[in-house]
Amino acid sequence: MEENTQKKTPRRRSTRQRRVILDVLRSTKSHPTADWVYEQVRQEIPNISLGTVYRNLKLLRDLGEVMELSFGSTYSRFDGNPELHYHFRCVDCDRVLDVDIPAVEELEQEVRDRHGWEVFTHRTEFYGRCRQCSRQREQTPTK
Ligand SMILES: [Zn+2]
Ligand SMILES: [Zn+2]
Repeated sequence: MEENTQKKTPRRRSTRQRRVILDVLRSTKSHPTADWVYEQVRQEIPNISLGTVYRNLKLLRDLGEVMELSFGSTYSRFDGNPELHYHFRCVDCDRVLDVDIPAVEELEQEVRDRHGWEVFTHRTEFYGRCRQCSRQREQTPTK
């Protein structure tokens, strides 16, 4: 009897874990790191480990529920919005913002036509300085 209930628990627990992680990601537009997600999820599930959060994030990514954005070799950011959209990264404050222009899906067709490759998706990132950081620079007198 006891063994049975113990066997059932992990499954139910992992479903709940995944849901909490997804809720955390969907509730923010900040494209957080796994560490940030972990800190939020811990408030709901105190005994969860970073490894579990990470594993679930990868799983949600594979399920197409979230998007993983990797910037170079440093670390990944996660996005609760899995729809194709573009991002802007501020080189000063490191924030990742959503770009409010429609994704150009014709690009994929163009690459397909030109090279004969099967194209599944594409990613476009813009780099520069956000409004907030630009303003700050204007206000700070340069030496
Ligand atoms: Zn900035
Ligand atoms: Zn995004």
